Amino acid sequence: MTTKRGFTTTILHADRLGKPEHGSLHKPIHTSVTYGHEDVQDLVDIFQNKKKGYAYSRQGNPTVTALEHKVTNMEKGLSSIAFSTGMAAISATVMALIKHGDHIVASSFLFGNSRSIFQTYIDLGLDITFVDATDVENVRNEVRANTKMVFVETIANPATQVADLQGIGELCTQKGIIYVVDNTMTSPYLFNPIDVKASLVINSLTKYIGGHGDALGGCVTDTGLFNWSNYPNIFETFKKQVKPETLGLTQIRKKGLRDAGGTLSPEAAHTIAVGAETLALRLERACNNALALAQYFESHPMIKNVFYPGIKSHKQHERAGKLFKKFGGLMSIELDESIDCLAFLNKLKLVVKSSNLGDTRTLAIPVAQTIFFELGADKRAEMGIPETMIRLSVGIEDLEDLMADFKEALG
Ligand SMILES: *Cc1c(COP(=O)(O)O)cnc(C)c1O
Repeated sequence: MTTKRGFTTTILHADRLGKPEHGSLHKPIHTSVTYGHEDVQDLVDIFQNKKKGYAYSRQGNPTVTALEHKVTNMEKGLSSIAFSTGMAAISATVMALIKHGDHIVASSFLFGNSRSIFQTYIDLGLDITFVDATDVENVRNEVRANTKMVFVETIANPATQVADLQGIGELCTQKGIIYVVDNTMTSPYLFNPIDVKASLVINSLTKYIGGHGDALGGCVTDTGLFNWSNYPNIFETFKKQVKPETLGLTQIRKKGLRDAGGTLSPEAAHTIAVGAETLALRLERACNNALALAQYFESHPMIKNVFYPGIKSHKQHERAGKLFKKFGGLMSIELDESIDCLAFLNKLKLVVKSSNLGDTRTLAIPVAQTIFFELGADKRAEMGIPETMIRLSVGIEDLEDLMADFKEALG
């Protein structure tokens, strides 16, 4: 595929490269679960990784492959594997590459369900240490001889901390550790983790890439920077079958996708691919809306705190400005204690009270009462989550309408 074209042009015309079926502008939705082969040798070769092709849709489907190519292009990577959800991509990646006795360093500000699956892996016997990843020194202090993976997010949710992405990339490269970056919050339009030497990039396709809140999906992309041939956990049988640079994703596809079965449906792959065509347009608008709202909230006397990388008071504002094209669509605000957080939310007429993010519509959720409720008040205080925090996923509505909704609710 050509890489010289722009971000949006490349996505729009991706399905016409190669041989478009009947001139179709979209990759058709292939619903067949299994694939028949005239010569059984083809089937054998596909099973033995000697030939590309399709055998059974749990581990590969042409419509899903077309979406994987688009994500690979967006991330400037080597290749990608799509999953049924972002969580399926994360859990399969860790499960396929890490063994008992290995150690992982992960950010302590992870997406709640990622934190939860990591806890499950701890209960199953993996060794995982959580650190404040906004400073590479915290990661460096925990790296040991058996550390095999570092896992961070770009912008954390809900308090929007920005990890020391560059510093951690250098550390992992130097130590030969797999560096996994969850790029969901920035998306490949604002940031490519390959630029900070990430080995693997995770995207929840459900969020900005699909973008319309109408399909679940996830993806892992190999940037091509990690040397898999020396990685001890790769199965010998794969080493004999595939090129060294494809060993990592081969193992994730077989041991993660095929065995755990978090397969993306072709219908969802199509919906996400259509959504992805406008990623750049949507995100430009959402980021501009978010910045304008953050500036308004910052000057409002009833709002105690604004958590958004785009404002100067944010601790990693400068880092975010250097790394990301824009500052993203997600922010949190801390209301003055005198305001009842739930009553305030109920006054919003346009903004939807909902838990998703990365939708075209602006969504708001009270953090302590929902996504961080299970933790309890003490743990929330420890993690810097105020009881009157509201998380906003800013959409692409007309800014004046969003402003009017918040002004009225705060009035
Ligand atoms: C939503 C999200 C996920 C999980 O994605 P799903 O598609 O909902 O499974 C993972 N990481 C981050 C940062 C997310 O925001």
